[in-house]
This record gives sequence, C-alpha cells and structure tokens, in this order.
Amino acid sequence: MHPVTAYIGLGTNLGDRAANLERALRELAGTPGIRMRRTAAVYETAPVGRTDQDWFLNTVAEIETPLAPQALLKELQAIESRLGRVRRERWGPRVIDLDILLYGDRMIDEPGLQVPHPRLTERAFAVVPLAEIAPEVMLPGNLRLADLTRRLAREQQICLYTGN
Ligand code: ATP
Ligand code: MG
Ligand code: MG
Repeated sequence: MHPVTAYIGLGTNLGDRAANLERALRELAGTPGIRMRRTAAVYETAPVGRTDQDWFLNTVAEIETPLAPQALLKELQAIESRLGRVRRERWGPRVIDLDILLYGDRMIDEPGLQVPHPRLTERAFAVVPLAEIAPEVMLPGNLRLADLTRRLAREQQICLYTGN
C-alpha cells in the first residue's frame, strides 16, 4: 500500500507527563511501518469536558505509514498499553492517549474508528499543534485551520509548555 500521511494526537495528564509524551513519541517512531516526519511543540492545556482533573500536555505528530487505518489504531493502542494506560471512565485522567486525527484525506466511519477524529475541530489541544506543523491541511467542513486556531485558542486555555 502507498504510504499515507497521518496526524496523531497525543495527550497525557497523569504521572510524569513530559516523560510520557517522550516515550510515546519514541515508541511511535520505533514502530515498524511508521515513519516519524515531524512533531509539534508541547502544549499545556486545561482539561475540557471533565474539568475536575489535572492539566494536560498535548502534541501532534505527523507520520507516514503504509499501515491501514485499523492496523495503525491497533499499534497506537498497543503503545497506550505499554505505557500503562488503564481504561476507566471515558475522558478521565490518562497516562497517554493516542488518537488518529487525520489519515490522508480519508473519511472513515467504522465501528471503533472515525476519521477525521469526530471532536478534532472542537479542541484547541488538537487543532493548535496541528496548525503548527500542517497549516495547509484540509479539515472537514471546509474549515480554515487558521481561523479555527484563532477562535479555539481564545475560548480554551492553551499555552506552550517549556518545562516546569
Ligand atoms: P476521544 O475520542 O473523545 O478523544 P478518548 O481518546 O479518551 O476520547 P479512548 O478511550 O482513547 O477515547 O478511545 C475510545 C475508543 O475510541 C477506542 O476504543 C477507539 O476504538 C475509538 N476511536 C474511534 N475513532 C478513533 C480515532 N480516530 N482515534 C483513536 N481512537 C478512536
Ligand atoms: Mg482522545
Ligand atoms: Mg483515544
């Protein structure tokens, strides 16, 4: 299969967050069939949805892969498990979350996999790092990434993370 450019959203708000992101990125880069192209800066973001939990560190990675979407998702879930993610309540605190934000220009709606990620365009923590590394990327609904970034960054708390 022809390699596809995909964007992976990473998030963590449990334990050593910076170390979790680093390890997840390393594992991603070391996965057969995944070539790491670039990563955005690390952003610190207030939790959305369930707001009674610690702040997150988030970033986005651009990868190139011949893996089919479901196979890619399996690899991401394997990395989540290796980092010790335990699935409790939805949107609760997590050691690491790895989501497929975009997979080329494919639209996927299968059991257990929707791409583009259905909540991508509502989330500053995904849109802001994505805009940093892929300002030209096309979003569903013909949204302009630059407009969306400006609006979401105003509405939600997000800043560049520079360490403690
Ligand atoms: P959210 O989907 O709102 O970001 P979450 O990432 O915390 O929530 P998880 O518990 O990580 O949710 O995953 C729940 C399910 O979402 C997974 O079992 C997976 O099958 C499904 N899923 C659907 N679309 C995607 C996608 N694009 N990337 C990752 N997982 C997805
Ligand atoms: Mg998620
Ligand atoms: Mg997830």
